[in-house]
Amino acid sequence: MIDGAPLKLFNSLTRKVEAFHPVHPGEARVYSCGPTVYNYPHIGNMRAYVFADLLGRTLSWKGYKLTHVINITDVGHLTDDADAGEDKLEKAAAAKKQSAWDISRHYTEAYWADVQALNIRQPAEWSIATEFVPQMIAFAEKIAPEHCYRLDSGLYFDVSTVKDYGRLARATTDEGEGRIETVEGKRHAADFAIWRATPPGEKRQMEWDSPWGRGAPGWHLECSVMGEALLGFPFDIHTGGIDHREIHHPNEIAQNQAFQQCGSLDDAACSGARIWMHNNFLVERGGKMAKSTGEFLRLPLLVEKGYHPLAYRLLCLQAHYRSELEFSWEGLGAALTRLKRMVMALEAVKARHAGDHSAHTTPSEGGWTYAALLDAIGGTLRLFAVDFDKAISDDLNSAIALTVLEEVLGHKKLASGEMLTLVSGFDAVLGLGLLDLTRADLRIRPRDAAIDEAEIEAELARRREARAAKDFATSDAIRDELAAKGVEVMDGDPLGWEWKLG
Ligand SMILES: [Zn+2]
Repeated sequence: MIDGAPLKLFNSLTRKVEAFHPVHPGEARVYSCGPTVYNYPHIGNMRAYVFADLLGRTLSWKGYKLTHVINITDVGHLTDDADAGEDKLEKAAAAKKQSAWDISRHYTEAYWADVQALNIRQPAEWSIATEFVPQMIAFAEKIAPEHCYRLDSGLYFDVSTVKDYGRLARATTDEGEGRIETVEGKRHAADFAIWRATPPGEKRQMEWDSPWGRGAPGWHLECSVMGEALLGFPFDIHTGGIDHREIHHPNEIAQNQAFQQCGSLDDAACSGARIWMHNNFLVERGGKMAKSTGEFLRLPLLVEKGYHPLAYRLLCLQAHYRSELEFSWEGLGAALTRLKRMVMALEAVKARHAGDHSAHTTPSEGGWTYAALLDAIGGTLRLFAVDFDKAISDDLNSAIALTVLEEVLGHKKLASGEMLTLVSGFDAVLGLGLLDLTRADLRIRPRDAAIDEAEIEAELARRREARAAKDFATSDAIRDELAAKGVEVMDGDPLGWEWKLG
């Protein structure tokens, strides 16, 4: 049933590109580590979900029936990724004098708004950690006798009880010494709490009774349990940001080995998932990504400054997910311009289509697959579909896939209906919403813009006259005045947009 190039994905566990073979024929089951909802997500956090979405869309494109789970961590993630420190939710609740439940709802909704703005498809399930506590207790009870020990502060996992601990991180237990805060009584530095007991005399907002006293589950336990409960071990692919490769995912893997009573990680299924995938960081030289600095780079901030959210999605797709991506306003502006070019080219195709009404196919209810797209188009265009499929099947090479799309858009003679069909097929993978976007959608007025569109157009008309008269002094002065009001004049812009709000 699966046509086209074989799907190959980079497995962090083996550090190799591997052919994808589903556990259940025709199906793909994917678990993605989701946000900890104690603050707004920054755009670097959102890169992980654009990547997971691209993966999910590619699996659908290849014809697999996708079940995607993304979790919401609303309890159990500590401030320093170690076993000391405070729960991030409890800390935020105390600082804001609100209930932890209200805090998690508020930030979950903010995250979902970003998800929607970035055209990230809804997963089959948003698994909320606090809704799985009984399953977490049952999971911990099963592994505790052979793999855990108790301290006053909770139930701890002994990492020496499983084979190949830390293989994913390529670190040994000893290397963990420096990076993990030591809790008194731990047998190894890398041992971690799977249940954290509430200290005597204290009361947490989020706490539950357990065989190890009143307390809360550990973050690592949560993901193991939700993955197992919703997808079953082993499932196909586990994703997350590359920071999870060091501690969170090795700990999940250790728990999964214990739960399955499984041996060496040479058998990938012992890890709980056949393939572990990690997206690289979005970096920003000015350090604006850090939430601790107060104002940080959030998607709504980009919109306030006049950038359509899908320009950020395109910025992500231009880079390979395993490459570090540097954020700059110039880079985002270039992505927005590129998106505008695509939309304008597509508007020309739509205009031609309004005249010739050539045959145009819309996808079936499940969306486009590669096979369905090939059936819907003719000979010449099929070659583009083949190239696109080859690129995206090669460890999700969206950068190359985008150039194939642009090649199609650059053709003036292809049948307009088939072009629309092809672009809608490609966009099922890229998720840029190309067939619905218009030039007007992309021209967002920044919140602090000191000038409106009619004034800009009038100034530009005056500037064109000055230039025609070779009065470059006036022309430059107008450009500088506009720049002071936040408008960048783009001389020689082949698109004829002439200006953008910078
Ligand atoms: Zn996780």
